[in-house]
Amino acid sequence: MDEFYSCTLCQSFAPNHVCIVSPERLGLCGAYNWLDCKASFSINPTGPNRPIKLGAPIDPAKGYWTGLNEYAKSGSHGAVQDVAMYSIMENPMTACGCFESIVMLIPETNGVMVVSREDTSMTPAGMTFSTMAGMAGGGLQTPGVMGVGKFYLISPKFISSDGGFKRVVWMSSALKESMSDELKAVAIREGDPDLIDKIADERSVTTVDQLLAWLEEHNHPALVMDPIF
Ligand code: SF4
Ligand SMILES: [Zn+2]
Repeated sequence: MDEFYSCTLCQSFAPNHVCIVSPERLGLCGAYNWLDCKASFSINPTGPNRPIKLGAPIDPAKGYWTGLNEYAKSGSHGAVQDVAMYSIMENPMTACGCFESIVMLIPETNGVMVVSREDTSMTPAGMTFSTMAGMAGGGLQTPGVMGVGKFYLISPKFISSDGGFKRVVWMSSALKESMSDELKAVAIREGDPDLIDKIADERSVTTVDQLLAWLEEHNHPALVMDPIF
């Protein structure tokens, strides 16, 4: 694949935000995947979805290509200089406000949590989804915070340069339930079939201390992974 797609539909309210949509990473609202963007471009070549040539690889593991960086600069009107498609820790993709989920670093756990838009409960970060949404949105790059479409979670490229899905230490139960078959398949792919049961959720864990105890008790792999930063 030498082309990703842009989506600038949300610039009406987040003027410096662009979604870069790859075959492995759909738009953060969940409504536009790579094929949708390709179809939209063929119907309306001057519309919000345009092909972006990847250009030369800079660091494909982190998800840097010259063409994407150039596009990110111009599409964000200079607000973003570089974008790493597959990292949350280094130059993560920006967000408008329509993300289906927020992924956020929990430094104490060497992992990340994933909070669903449908989840109104308190998270181990000491914030609810709506408070976090203010940090994740607005077209700003915030290392450690990322708005995503929920189907990006099951891609092999999900934060792959930071260690991938095994970094997930906490996840809203709404996500676990609505994607249970897909998540089971991810756990098998990651070589840890019981992985989903090792991930805490709001039904049992609402603070960092509870989360650390849960992770120890369930032998979560993030505890023995390389430091995430
Ligand atoms: S959130 Fe959805 S509609 Fe908005 S720019 Fe991204 S893909 Fe396009
Ligand atoms: Zn949006």
